[in-house]
Amino acid sequence: MRIVDLKCALIGKNPIVRIVADQGLSGYGEAESYKPYLKPYVLQFREALIGEDPTDVERCMLKIRQRGAFKPYGAAVSIIEHALWDVAGKAAGVPVYKLLGGKVRDRVRTYNGSLRVPMGGTTPERYAADCKRMMALPEGFDIVKQGIAFHSAMKREFDGFFYGTPSLSPFHGAMDSGVITERGMNHMIDCVAAMKEVLGDRVGLALDCGPGWLPSDALRFARAVEKYNLLWLEDMLTGDYVPWINADVYRDLTIATSTPIHTGEQIYLRQNFKELIERRAVDVVGPDPADVGGIAELKWIAEYAHLHGITIAPHGTGNGLLGLGALVNVCATLPSNYIAFEYPSGTDPWWYEIVEGLPKPIVNNGLIDVIDRPGMGVDLIPEAAKRYLKEEDKAFFD
Ligand SMILES: [Mg+2]
Repeated sequence: MRIVDLKCALIGKNPIVRIVADQGLSGYGEAESYKPYLKPYVLQFREALIGEDPTDVERCMLKIRQRGAFKPYGAAVSIIEHALWDVAGKAAGVPVYKLLGGKVRDRVRTYNGSLRVPMGGTTPERYAADCKRMMALPEGFDIVKQGIAFHSAMKREFDGFFYGTPSLSPFHGAMDSGVITERGMNHMIDCVAAMKEVLGDRVGLALDCGPGWLPSDALRFARAVEKYNLLWLEDMLTGDYVPWINADVYRDLTIATSTPIHTGEQIYLRQNFKELIERRAVDVVGPDPADVGGIAELKWIAEYAHLHGITIAPHGTGNGLLGLGALVNVCATLPSNYIAFEYPSGTDPWWYEIVEGLPKPIVNNGLIDVIDRPGMGVDLIPEAAKRYLKEEDKAFFD
């Protein structure tokens, strides 16, 4: 089998790659809705891959992997990897999880990442009300995550939250950073108490926190919330779009508190998890299969983390419905250090009409049934998806 073309189109807000193989097979990969600019980065790999056998996934990856980078630029390589696996699964007539070694679970746990509404404020009451709303969702999530501190509007809305000026730029990334005031710290602890009051011990709570904390604040907060048994504190020091890790500083934090510390959604490749894992610098890693270099890359990291007593909760909130298929396939194969992946949904209601293969309903009691279809399981329906293509992408399915 040979690759005869590689195409990329923006469908809604998500960049989609299509690998066209001879013998009439196509494979798809989907990037985050936050990366509408990705198309040229995907297309630069076209020439390198034409003529290769798409079912030799690793051989194809060896040609392109060195051209990726930390978020957002690992995504192009990552979604091509998903598309290669999709072709390989379809060619073999088996779900992709079979090619990764087979599933170890029939249902995969997911936590609420994408089913959100504006909270209308960052007071303890608003956080509590939002937790109540999440608990009532028909998906029955038993883990929810909330943004606080620099990963929320709190940095702007709570007067005197930190000794700095919050940026209003959408490209805030790691720009918002500074020492948190005592008032700001007390406010966050009040918010956690209010959320736990609602969630009790029935629904686990994780917090996405930054990045941007100074280490002493991070430690003070992690210790202050120890009694609430949070599932994890995510990206306090680095993370999100920060193009470095600082594993030694993470280690100082992690060994000084019983609250689990989490990072990794921006990290590209297994090599860049090496220090975090070998030094046991965090308790939980959170690679995104659409940023880290692909699903096989994520599985390798999960296995290596398992050897070191570290758990894994993959990122994925913006990955869309094809991205959901990729997450389900790889997470079905992970060892017992797997907690849950961050649930992505369709950014527009019509997304659910242009794909096939999704379970109905998708999530039950926080779990998704492993999809038993060849390839990645969730597939585009070209006739239905065509009408959402932009003029320049009209030939995407040809
Ligand atoms: Mg995050």
